[in-house]
Amino acid sequence: MKPEIAGSESPMLGDLIVGRIDELAAISETEKHLTRIFLTAQHRAAADLLLSWMREAGMRAHLDAIGNVCGRYEGERSGLPCLMLGSHYDTVRDAGKWDGPLGLITAICCVADLHRRGRRLPFAVEVAGFADEEGVRFSSTLLGSRAVAGTFDESVLNTRDKAGLTMREALQKFGFDPDHIGAAARARRELLAYVELHIEQGPVLEEKNLPVGVVTAIAGATRLAANLTGMAGHAGTVPMALRRDALAGAAECIVAIEEFCKADQAGLVGTVGSIDAMPGATNVIPGRVSFTIDVRAPSDAQRKLAVAGIVRKIEAIAKRRQLTLQLDITHENRTVPCATWLKGQVADAVAAEGFAVFELPSGAGHDGMAMIDIADVGMIFVRCRGGVSHHPDEHVEVADADAGARVLLRLIENFRPRDAAE
Ligand SMILES: [Zn+2]
Repeated sequence: MKPEIAGSESPMLGDLIVGRIDELAAISETEKHLTRIFLTAQHRAAADLLLSWMREAGMRAHLDAIGNVCGRYEGERSGLPCLMLGSHYDTVRDAGKWDGPLGLITAICCVADLHRRGRRLPFAVEVAGFADEEGVRFSSTLLGSRAVAGTFDESVLNTRDKAGLTMREALQKFGFDPDHIGAAARARRELLAYVELHIEQGPVLEEKNLPVGVVTAIAGATRLAANLTGMAGHAGTVPMALRRDALAGAAECIVAIEEFCKADQAGLVGTVGSIDAMPGATNVIPGRVSFTIDVRAPSDAQRKLAVAGIVRKIEAIAKRRQLTLQLDITHENRTVPCATWLKGQVADAVAAEGFAVFELPSGAGHDGMAMIDIADVGMIFVRCRGGVSHHPDEHVEVADADAGARVLLRLIENFRPRDAAE
């Protein structure tokens, strides 16, 4: 698929970005697989490299109290509130190299371009590289951005990693004071907006043949644990009419969830990703089954309505099959809408670079979910090959990295704060 490219006189930012993506990806726990985890030697090495790029781009840069890299490019005079750009630089295990770093490196390269041209804006530009978004080490996501938003949950300091080290101990080992994470927090008045560029991690832009997209919202999610109990029995002796097969019931529930979500035309998605059948033997009718349900939608109202509808369907199936149903909500997070005024400015930047404006929601979580507590949030998506992410095959074409960078740079240079924009 040939990416759509508009004429531009600015130098190819994409080449610089892709070179740096590769350089950062070389910092990994193992040579063969990319893994960069919070509060490790690789975290330190990556932070040092990012800080050096920030300084080279004319920013003042430092590591904050939880290990985020923070760079600041002053505006026409010093001390002005900032447009904050950011993304994360931790990874999942055996990761792709674009998820997180693309947004962070693109932001640094855009500031470098302003600096090279001596361009100062009527606001400051800050770049935040979040130390832990994925939550691999302590099973708690968005640690970096929550610290910046001032919503870091101190109780997670007692969480242990697989080696038995608490987060408190890991922070101390890294040279941080766990009692001073509050120092990383920023105030709402310091930020004009938070904008993140990120790979789409889905196949929609590729299908539309577009390099970039305007994100409408970060979809909220509800996760449920379902347990169906029937009656275990001998696979040879119990006639079909007398069975209460929990697994056959679960199968009907799974298909019903899929049909329910397919019938919705407004971005609802539902997934059963894990299932356990007991006792789990070839010659035994399954007596007990547990499975998970993950429901996401672009608005909270839509998601809640969908969850209620799915629950009704499952309850009816269980009742008809004489199965006992237990259903628990295990996780719920709200939808984070992108601010209309920012979405408009992102769309203007996309159009000005010669691309069709296409809006889409984000099904995956991002740091904006934390940043919404102190700033309006905007997001730009960049196409990734096959929609593959959290996998070494994750890939972005250099022309698309360049398109994303030009849109972000245009957005920065034309940015009007909310009051001026309205
Ligand atoms: Zn990410």
